[in-house]
Amino acid sequence: MVMKLPMPAADNVQLVTEIVAERANGVNATFFKGIKDEWRERVRQYIEAAGLPPTVTTWAAIQPRTTSFLNLYLSPAENSVQRPLLKSMRDNDLSICPACGESGRPNTLDHYLPKQLYPHFSVTPVNLFPMCDACQNAKLDKVGNAQTPRFFIHPYFDTFVAAQVLHLEIQAPFNAPTFTLGVVEGLSPSETNLVRTHLRELGIEKRYAKFFRNEHRRLLRSVDRLRTTGQDVQQALASFRYRAEEPSLNAWEHVFYGAVLDNPDFIDYLTNAELPSYL
Ligand SMILES: [Zn+2]
Repeated sequence: MVMKLPMPAADNVQLVTEIVAERANGVNATFFKGIKDEWRERVRQYIEAAGLPPTVTTWAAIQPRTTSFLNLYLSPAENSVQRPLLKSMRDNDLSICPACGESGRPNTLDHYLPKQLYPHFSVTPVNLFPMCDACQNAKLDKVGNAQTPRFFIHPYFDTFVAAQVLHLEIQAPFNAPTFTLGVVEGLSPSETNLVRTHLRELGIEKRYAKFFRNEHRRLLRSVDRLRTTGQDVQQALASFRYRAEEPSLNAWEHVFYGAVLDNPDFIDYLTNAELPSYL
């Protein structure tokens, strides 16, 4: 990912207290009352450790009660404290998926630490963020593995993704170029690895490849029109890139136009070469 999101405003620890209070007269009252302090402490630890596995651990003692936690998320009661929080996250006005950068409003919520493994964070706002279907189908319950405990960029804590972290290389022949997606230079080794595993595990490069091929065709058509109407190609492309800066420097269009403009040979081709006739 590729887009840094503002931290959710809700008080994550206080939410635990309120959820337990709402259960004071229910069938699970004793259970929730008994784990309240540890639950609060675990949410505090999550925030302190920036959601980082394996520092943030699973909770073996509550595994038999996983369903009770999942229901907080899957079927929150009408007037429950978590319901409006979940609703406001789903009603986001994002225009790209914060995990991959693809255009479109992300219409599902993802649990950064998966709810099946970490049911105690199933409604913790800082563990939830909007995501597109393609990313969610790729992420599933993955977290990391023995060598790489964490695969995914955290949308709230990994603030380095506010800068552009993706780098695209466009190679000749420019009428049918090769696209190679990588990581920008200048990040720390751990940041570089994190971006790499994030791209790999969400299958982003394959999805980008399709987008870049289509965008390349659109680019040639636009350039053809720019030339016909006597406009400055490079200047027009710079304004395309500028427009794509919002909402994230890692939005797909921005990465694409950045790669075009940073490639003098491609710019020369677009300005002077004969364009293919299949446009
Ligand atoms: Zn996505």
